[in-house]
Amino acid sequence: MIVVLKPRATNEDTSKVVNLARKFGFDVNISKGAEKTIIGIIGDNVYERREAFEALNCVEEIVTVLKPFKLVSKEFHPKDTIISVGGAKIGNGNFEFVAGPCSVESMKQMEVEAEFLSGLGVKFLRGGAFKPRTSPYSFQGLGVRGLKILRKVADEHNMKVVSEMMSGQDLELFEEYVDIIQVGARSMQNFRLLKKLGESTKPILLKRGFMSTIEEWLLAAEYLFHHGNDKVILCERGIRTFEKYTRNTLDISAVPLVKSLSHLPIIVDLSHSTGRRDLINPLSKAVVASGADGAMVEVHPDPEKALSDGQQSLNFDEFEATYRTSMNLHRMMEEFIWNQE
Ligand code: PEP
Ligand code: MN
Repeated sequence: MIVVLKPRATNEDTSKVVNLARKFGFDVNISKGAEKTIIGIIGDNVYERREAFEALNCVEEIVTVLKPFKLVSKEFHPKDTIISVGGAKIGNGNFEFVAGPCSVESMKQMEVEAEFLSGLGVKFLRGGAFKPRTSPYSFQGLGVRGLKILRKVADEHNMKVVSEMMSGQDLELFEEYVDIIQVGARSMQNFRLLKKLGESTKPILLKRGFMSTIEEWLLAAEYLFHHGNDKVILCERGIRTFEKYTRNTLDISAVPLVKSLSHLPIIVDLSHSTGRRDLINPLSKAVVASGADGAMVEVHPDPEKALSDGQQSLNFDEFEATYRTSMNLHRMMEEFIWNQE
């Protein structure tokens, strides 16, 4: 970590920083220039003490050399992580779809979903049972009954269940019925929830908060690792910008960026990223070409009648077209592009 002192800092100021560093057991390296004094602070976990240096009046700026996250970083763990759920894998070079309705609405709906999606080859069935709705008057999800429906239809079609958990109090329930626990965009920085999920043996699908930087997102993943869970899949789901034609703006740059910073697999939620079903197919091509490990799509037997997010859900024919294009493009990218790079 490098501490830059303010232009007119005195020798006393330099000593203040040096003494603080020594108090924490760090080594220092002082470089006095004509204009400014720069002090290198060297030691394990210096980042954790950053705030103590920031608080000093004589400090102008602090530059961190190492990343603030460690366990999820590529530097710490160069080999890419593969998440395996009973034989189904994410991060092994394939492109996997996590598909299903925004909300579980009924047994009948989920039976036709699972039948159709598993027939195509989709292994991961999504569906919200506890829904994070902006308005308290909107459909809130079927709760436990929704989880039971998901488990039943997934088992009948050899699929894995992905569903969002909003409260740490529900962990036992999710351990029983769900294969991958989703942390929603609104919960990405619910640190008590992350700590609780650190205790779980289930993989976590960690969505990016719509107001979160990539660094904050990776630090949320670091929470899960730090508290004991190293099975994390990241999910880019669009961020809030000034653009109004879309619900969110898909930050496609997050995919190669995260791949360069972290060993964790990353998928992209094509529904929430723009909130528009007409953009899912075109953007799925960008997502495949970006090198993502998969995509999430909201699929509904009749999107016009969906109880939530119908406007960004595909019907079965539309999803089949997107699925086939994505798989073909992935094969082409492997054969003609990635193998030659
Ligand atoms: C969802 O996947 O249904 C959902 C609510 O997503 P997000 O947390 O990304 O808004
Ligand atoms: Mn949704």
